Amino acid sequence: MNETIPHWLEKQNELNPEHVAIEQPDGFSMSFSKLRNESRNLAENLITLGVKEGDHVALLMHNQIEFPVFIHSLSYIGATAVLLNTRLTAAEIAFPLSDADVSWFFAGEGLLEKAEQARQASQVIPEGRLLKVDDIPIRKAETLDLKKEIHLDQVFTMMYTSGTTGNPKAVMHTYGNHWFSAVASALNLGVQPEDKWLLCLPMFHVGGFSVLMKSVIYGITVSLIERFDAPVINREIRNNRITHISVVTLMLQRLLEDLKDDFYPNTFRCMLLGGGPVPETLLRKAELKSVPVFQTYGMTETSSQIATLNPSAAMKKLGSAGKALTPAEVIVEADGPNEVGEILVKGPMVSKGYYNHTPLNKEYLRTGDLGYKDDEGFLYVVDRVKDVIISGGENIYPAELESVLSDFPGVKEAGVTGISDETWGEVPAAFLVPEEGVTIHSEDVAEFCEERLAKYKIPKAFFILAQLPRNASNKLLRRELFSALEKEN
Ligand code: ATP
Ligand code: MG
Repeated sequence: MNETIPHWLEKQNELNPEHVAIEQPDGFSMSFSKLRNESRNLAENLITLGVKEGDHVALLMHNQIEFPVFIHSLSYIGATAVLLNTRLTAAEIAFPLSDADVSWFFAGEGLLEKAEQARQASQVIPEGRLLKVDDIPIRKAETLDLKKEIHLDQVFTMMYTSGTTGNPKAVMHTYGNHWFSAVASALNLGVQPEDKWLLCLPMFHVGGFSVLMKSVIYGITVSLIERFDAPVINREIRNNRITHISVVTLMLQRLLEDLKDDFYPNTFRCMLLGGGPVPETLLRKAELKSVPVFQTYGMTETSSQIATLNPSAAMKKLGSAGKALTPAEVIVEADGPNEVGEILVKGPMVSKGYYNHTPLNKEYLRTGDLGYKDDEGFLYVVDRVKDVIISGGENIYPAELESVLSDFPGVKEAGVTGISDETWGEVPAAFLVPEEGVTIHSEDVAEFCEERLAKYKIPKAFFILAQLPRNASNKLLRRELFSALEKEN
C-alpha cells in the first residue's frame, strides 16, 4: 500500500476550519484551523530543536489538550510517536525507552520528575533530549518545510500492549492502519457532521488514540475529559449533545450507577464498549436503561476494534462481540460453529508487527484469544489461550467463572486461576474481593456456583483479597493472584 493522501489535518483545515476539533467540559474549545496552526508551530519548534523525520519520539502525558497537538506535530515532521502509559513507574518506563530506540523524550504536566528518573535508568537518552513539553523553545521567523502528505505505509505510532500475558510489546501502527480503523468504524456507525465523541480513555492506548484519529479523519468534535469522572461525563452526555463515547467495562458500570433513574437523550447514539470481558448482568442493566451499547472486540494490534455487535442484536446475542467490520476478517480456528478455537484476524487496520521482533508476515494475526462463532457467525470471545485451566481433560475458562462469581451478592470482583492437583492435573481457584463491610463464606459461594456451573468448573479453593492484582492498564493479572495473596497476608 505505497499510497499517499493529503495530510488529514490540512484537509480539515480546508473543509471545516471553524468547526470545533476539541472541547473540554470547562468551556475550552479549539477549532480545526487552530489545532492545525498550533500543531504546525510545534512541529517547527521541534525541527529547530533537532527532531527529524524517522526519529522515535516518546511522549509521557496525561489526557491534556497538548497531547493531540503534539501527535499532529509529529505527523508534520514524519517522526514516530512512542506513547507511554503514565501509570507506569520510572523503572518500568526505562524499558520502552531502550526497547523502542527512543531518541527524544517529552513529558507533560507533572511527569517530568518521573521521566527524568526513567531517562537515567534507561541510559539511552542523553541529557538535553528530555524536555517538558512546555519548555520546548519557541522559534522565530522563517517557515520550515512540513509534510503536506501522509504516507499510508509509514509508521506513525508505537504503543505497548498491556502486558497482561507477558512482557508488553511495541505495536507499530502505520498511518494506513489508523486510517482504515477509522474508516471501518465509520462504515459501521455512520458519520454526521454534528457528531461529538467523548474521549475519556487514555490517549496513550489505542482505544483513546483512535478517537483522535476519527476526529481528524471525519472532521468531528472530540470532547476531551482529563480524568474519568462519572457525574461529569453523564452531565456532558445529557446536556452537551455527546453522540458517541468509548469506554471499558468498569467505566460503563460507574456511568450506570451514577445515572440512577435517569436516561440518556436520543441524540446519544453509541456507547462503544471494549478492552475486555463484560459480565452479562451489566449488559442487561444497560439494556434496561436503553443505553445503545456496541460491544466490541479488538486489541492494540488491530488499532482498536475489529469486530462490533450493534445494539439491535445485543439482547438476541447477549455477550457476543458481533461480526468483523468492513473490510476486516475474523476467523476461529475450529471445526465448525459453536466450537472454541483461537481467534485469527486480518485486515488493513492490523499492525504488521512489533518493533524489534520478527515481522508478523503471516496472512492472519494469531490473537492468543479463544472464541467461537455461533450458527449465524456471531463471535463470542471466551478467554485467553494462556489462561485456560485444563482439569481432567476438560477446558475451563476463568472469565466464565469470574462472571458468575462477581454476581454473588457482596462480591465486588473476582479472579480465577488454576492450581495443580494430583487427580485432575489442575483445578480452578477463586479470589474474591468483598464489597466494603461484607463477610463472604466460601461454602455459600460454592453453593451459588453449583446452581450455575458444571461440577468440574466449581472452584476448589476460595481466597479473599482486598484488591486484585492489575497492570497499568487496569487489567487483571491472573498469573499474579497467588503472589498478591502472599503479599496481603
Ligand atoms: P498483552 O498482549 O501484552 O498480554 P493485552 O492483550 O491485555 O496485553 P491489549 O491490546 O490492551 O493488551 O488488550 C487486548 C486484549 O483484550 C485482547 O487480545 C483480548 O484478550 C481482550 N479483549 C478485548 N476485547 C475483548 C472482549 N470483547 N471480550 C473479551 N476480551 C477482550
Ligand atoms: Mg495481547
